[in-house]
Amino acid sequence: MDAAMDFLRRRIAGSDSAIPTSTLFERATAAHEETDPTSTIAEFHTSLNGVNQPMNLLFKDILWWTLGITAMIVLVIRISEIMWARLRQVSAMSVSGEKQGFWRTSQWSWMPSMKKHLIYAPLWNKRHNREFRLSSAISIGTLPSRLHSIMLFIYLGSNFAYMFVLNWQQKNRYEFCAELRGRSGTLSLVNMVPLIIFAGRNNPLITILKISFDTYNLLHRWMGRIVVLEALIHTIAWAIVCVADIGWKGVGDEIVSKLFVGSGMVGTVAMVLLMLLSVSPLRHAFYETFLNVHIVLAFVSFVATWVHCASSELAGGLPQLPWIMAIMALWFADRLARMFRILYVNWSSRGFTDAICEPLPGEVTRVTLNLPRYVDIQPGTHAYLRFWGINAWENHPFSICWVSHSSDNSLPVLEKEPLHSVDKSTMTTSVSFLIGAQTGMTRKLFDQVSNSRRSLRMKAAMEGPYAGHHSLDSYGHAVLFAGSTGITHQLSYIRHLLEGYNEGTVATRRITLVWIIREYESLEWVRPYMDTILRIPNRKDVLRIQIFITRPQNPRDIVSASTTVRMFPGRPNVPLLLQKEVQEQKGAMCVTVCGPGALADDVRGAVRVVQGHTVVDFVEESFTW
Ligand SMILES: Cc1cc2nc3c(=O)[nH]c(=O)nc-3n(C[C@H](O)[C@H](O)[C@H](O)COP(=O)(O)OP(=O)(O)OC[C@H]3O[C@@H](n4cnc5c(N)ncnc54)[C@H](O)[C@@H]3O)c2cc1C
Repeated sequence: MDAAMDFLRRRIAGSDSAIPTSTLFERATAAHEETDPTSTIAEFHTSLNGVNQPMNLLFKDILWWTLGITAMIVLVIRISEIMWARLRQVSAMSVSGEKQGFWRTSQWSWMPSMKKHLIYAPLWNKRHNREFRLSSAISIGTLPSRLHSIMLFIYLGSNFAYMFVLNWQQKNRYEFCAELRGRSGTLSLVNMVPLIIFAGRNNPLITILKISFDTYNLLHRWMGRIVVLEALIHTIAWAIVCVADIGWKGVGDEIVSKLFVGSGMVGTVAMVLLMLLSVSPLRHAFYETFLNVHIVLAFVSFVATWVHCASSELAGGLPQLPWIMAIMALWFADRLARMFRILYVNWSSRGFTDAICEPLPGEVTRVTLNLPRYVDIQPGTHAYLRFWGINAWENHPFSICWVSHSSDNSLPVLEKEPLHSVDKSTMTTSVSFLIGAQTGMTRKLFDQVSNSRRSLRMKAAMEGPYAGHHSLDSYGHAVLFAGSTGITHQLSYIRHLLEGYNEGTVATRRITLVWIIREYESLEWVRPYMDTILRIPNRKDVLRIQIFITRPQNPRDIVSASTTVRMFPGRPNVPLLLQKEVQEQKGAMCVTVCGPGALADDVRGAVRVVQGHTVVDFVEESFTW
């Protein structure tokens, strides 16, 4: 009947007047018989025809609730942890390490094995942050931890399940495709919301849930893959119906002539390119190019998706239109927050930030930024740096090694009077970093500074501080492992804990720093900071330093200065070292590591081995993502 009507309409239009009427009628009837006698095709590649919108909205709710409930559970765990740590800190900060026996012992018998087999466990045996490499230049990435893998498996698995809860009894395969188109498109957009939240440096969940940017970045990568896959299925499901209806040429015409279809196609192509160009070897080898192309393609995908949702023939656009608006708003909010942070930190009536850069042995540059205002910086934070004249469009993350505040035209505040008694509006902050030369911006910086043979002053800007949500104040015992420039992360904690020890504000009674460097000369990197640390009153009561020099040029350099600062040639036996620490454990212990992936994996493995009846927590700071 439809075929006959179709035929009549064309006849009235008169466009086929040269072809005999009977031939046209037969062709029209045959086309419909070939596909499906029970219904038409055309309607199933347009609008919401055949789309099961109630089910789509149900799965949208389920996915967002899954994420929301997970966040709430993490929040409850975090709040309990913070309260527990606060209780520990307040009750232990005024007693000796020997009297912190309650906090030394694990209060829940299941906790050590939970940490060993789940929370701190790598996916299989040992490997987590040591990169898989095809060659010294080509990295193909790292393995997620066991807990992260389980979470990813559940989330990705649920996405696949929701995608295929379709009417499999449907006789009309084009209607089936329409249902798949609706589901995959909806899920793709649903996942884009957390995808974009997790990508932001200013994601508020980092602070609220105390989960590091690394973890969100891992989730971002996997969510990105699922978003692209779903967008691709959405496009293919549409194309199958469209090709059956109007052929490939017709599909091409639709893409060119209809904004709705064209924008959808641009969005899908941009997303597929995004995914292909984000594979680990490319990402690691050409990070800056990857980042710039990634941002441009992400922007194109968002704009195309917005246009796609808005240009639908449905009144008010597709129901997903508000989501893509929210996605764009979140994206711009992060960009705006970053701009605001840069302006706030680096600019005041006193002028703009400048950097003093000094070349150091081992191809390291010490950079001290003089900020034109007071900035409060916690231990364990990092910031993104830009240097005027050295790939100024790039910004790279570096751990904040040392912070000092000074009042206008006076001595650093640290050496004078307590900070709370000083008017902060009259103060400025200096922030120091140690930057190892790699092959890109860091190499250019080092070359420029070492060619000048003395310290170089240049304009620079800092975006941050970021992170710093791991407080060690409630631990009686801190064991800090650092590899090479990873010392930056650990130094900030040492000074804070020693000062806290003297002021009676922290529970810490023992700090063991284990630093692994290649050459003796690397000690020069931290000499001014170490001198200050070693001069802090009572530091001998608390701090033990062990330095391991893996390739000493002259073995006679390896001399231990005292029983509290010792030097050794070669690598440390991490498991043995940690076992000795646990034998002498004071209160609850936290082991942290910052350095190359292989060292981090060794320390993680050793922490898992010592999980027994005492409390041994583990925190890892990674320099790669
Ligand atoms: C939180 C954090 C803290 C860090 N702290 C320090 C530190 O205190 N001292 C130090 O020497 N290094 C630190 N790094 C590493 C440092 O950021 C990189 O070595 C630096 O960005 C390399 O710049 P490049 O242009 O010379 O890199 P390239 O030689 O081009 O690449 C070297 C490696 O660095 C990675 N990389 C390049 N650019 C970035 C970027 N913008 N963000 C993340 N990774 C990048 C590449 O993927 C590659 O694996 C830290 C990294 C992170 C994530």
